[in-house]
Amino acid sequence: MIEGCIAVLNNYGFGPYGLCGFYDFGLSHKNKKWKKNENAFKPNGGNGWQLERETNSTTSFLAKCILHHISSLPFISLSSTSPFYGFQTSPFLTETIQTNFSFISTSQQPTANRCPPPPPTATMLKHTNLVVKILIALILGCDFGRNKISSTGNFAASTTDLPHHATIALLTERLKLDGDLRIDNLHHAAKDFGNRYSLLPAAVLYPKSVSDISSLVNYVFQMGPTSRLTIAARGHGHSLEGQAQAHQGVVVNMESLGKSQEMRFHIEGESRPFVDVSAGAQTRDGPEIMDGLSSSNGRWTLSNAGISGQAFRHGPQINNVHQLEVVTGTGQVVTCTEEMNSDLFYGVLGGLGQFGIITRAHISLEPAPKMVKWIRVLYVDFAAFTEDQEQLISSNSSFDYVEGFVLINRTGLLNNWRSSFNCKDPVQASRFFSEGKTLFCLEIAKYFTEGDAETTDQKIEGLLSKLNYNESTLFISEVSYVEFLDRVHVSELKLQEKGLWDVPHPWLNLLVPKSKIHKFATQVFGNILTDTSNGPILIYPVDKSRWNTKTSMVTPKEDVFYLVAFLSSAMPSSTGKDSLEHILSQNKRILDVCETANLETKQYLPHYSAQEEWKKHFGSQWEAFVRRKFTYDPLAILTPGQRIFQKATGFL
Ligand SMILES: Cc1cc2nc3c(=O)[nH]c(=O)nc-3n(C[C@H](O)[C@H](O)[C@H](O)COP(=O)(O)OP(=O)(O)OC[C@H]3O[C@@H](n4cnc5c(N)ncnc54)[C@H](O)[C@@H]3O)c2cc1C
Repeated sequence: MIEGCIAVLNNYGFGPYGLCGFYDFGLSHKNKKWKKNENAFKPNGGNGWQLERETNSTTSFLAKCILHHISSLPFISLSSTSPFYGFQTSPFLTETIQTNFSFISTSQQPTANRCPPPPPTATMLKHTNLVVKILIALILGCDFGRNKISSTGNFAASTTDLPHHATIALLTERLKLDGDLRIDNLHHAAKDFGNRYSLLPAAVLYPKSVSDISSLVNYVFQMGPTSRLTIAARGHGHSLEGQAQAHQGVVVNMESLGKSQEMRFHIEGESRPFVDVSAGAQTRDGPEIMDGLSSSNGRWTLSNAGISGQAFRHGPQINNVHQLEVVTGTGQVVTCTEEMNSDLFYGVLGGLGQFGIITRAHISLEPAPKMVKWIRVLYVDFAAFTEDQEQLISSNSSFDYVEGFVLINRTGLLNNWRSSFNCKDPVQASRFFSEGKTLFCLEIAKYFTEGDAETTDQKIEGLLSKLNYNESTLFISEVSYVEFLDRVHVSELKLQEKGLWDVPHPWLNLLVPKSKIHKFATQVFGNILTDTSNGPILIYPVDKSRWNTKTSMVTPKEDVFYLVAFLSSAMPSSTGKDSLEHILSQNKRILDVCETANLETKQYLPHYSAQEEWKKHFGSQWEAFVRRKFTYDPLAILTPGQRIFQKATGFL
């Protein structure tokens, strides 16, 4: 055996910071460049596994590479015994290295009680090649003197970062694409609905096939951590804080894929009808209109959740998916379901784009009704409002859609409604004044087909008779189901016409446990938002007991919790109450109340700037989240805009 050591993985290995473990490779004390990690390095001792030079197996390629580059250090010593994280380096790398190399000695093997068990062998073996490649990339490309990984992650765009023109030129030349990789007109990809963050990418991929996406990701992955390039999928850019952006990276325009791939309907003879749809497609063009079938939620929002007034019955959109096709962070195209590659399947759903780019999904369909009775009633009393909402979502024979919103100091409210809703008692309604009050509107809908109109009316009457709203405020409208589904889009068009769509949207979405909703309302509607709001405030409960909780989505602990969405728009030139600064400071006050009053809320469409906050957000799900990141996107190439993990570029 030859003296020396190539690599020691210490306790940070594969720790909470994605791949930063690789930065903790302690390399030989004989090489000054690696001096920094000397403490982590224990040649021939400690916990190391030692790798002997071998020549005859396929994997000897790695050994040769290592030996070629570090000729005086011909074996690997890997150590890590901290039981801190559930997928420690020792079991993982031990198995990987064992699979690939022969060992000559070990002074101390990791033991079961010191290190939690490794991920299932099948997963490990799948990644054996990957780890070998990463090791090569790291060893060939490293400069350990410039280890920049930080625990909180510095996500701000560095002014010294130069566009990767050369790399992009190479990509354009080497990738055989069905679609286009463009370096012009990049501004669209640096924009989102939030209108607050704008990070220019170096290129935008307009894919026409899944292989376009997998080739790109695989190419960037093969470049290893010597490249800064990251990749972000962009659906419709409805993000609020740059989550679909990639500073000097490549944005994948999923709409381009959606347009080039057909939706396929699987209805006849299926026990669970579904639509096989490409990412980037929009439901408005889809099933409701074409086949008399409807997905249970309006939009494809599989990286988040997709919560709406039907979620109390069907769960969020992510619970209505049977199968996904995903391009992982290594460029592999994987089909996954609840049974097949289920770890990836559940990880990707609600996974904030961290584990792969979804390219296709099978989404459940159900028979679409033709018509909708759409109803609004008002409450002055918050307790009566929430009691009724909770009763409605817990009953099996209830309305088909239950939402609600808060109205603060609105003038002429009922008059406005009259343009699209019919008032049950116009005389009473005309005596109702909304000014100066905080009101709570229950918004409910019952679906029906034309022949059922009469029985539907009777059912609605029965259901309404059990509610405690202010009787003079009953408003009903009858619309087609398509119109009902399209209502958000209609509002969008109206806002666009008025030039109010492209303003900053400092939205804040919270999930508040049922037991805390009154405290929350007292503080927020009683103290913070007292005289006005700068947009709709949605508030409605959902029942998690009907949801699949294996996904990555994070919710409060209680079964019933409220979605409270402050959907504010800010006026760019304003310095008043509708200015961005004012709304952001209100949002902060709301978040502070949640914290100080210990309301145990969770953010929906979360946004944090430090990893500690993400850790807190995920709570007990954090370990699984990090493990999945390591498994499916080991170089943290994907979706940098979420600011959870930072690409391991310390070797540059
Ligand atoms: C007007 C409006 C109404 C909304 N209403 C609702 C609602 O009722 N219920 C609800 O739950 N949400 C709602 N949202 C929020 C919306 O669901 C999320 O913003 C969602 O992420 C938007 O999808 P997108 O593809 O446009 O997002 P993008 O901004 O394009 O992407 C969002 C995130 O997902 C990642 N991503 C995009 N495509 C993929 C992919 N194919 N694979 C992996 N990751 C990907 C992106 O990188 C990014 O991190 C609404 C938003 C708006 C603007």
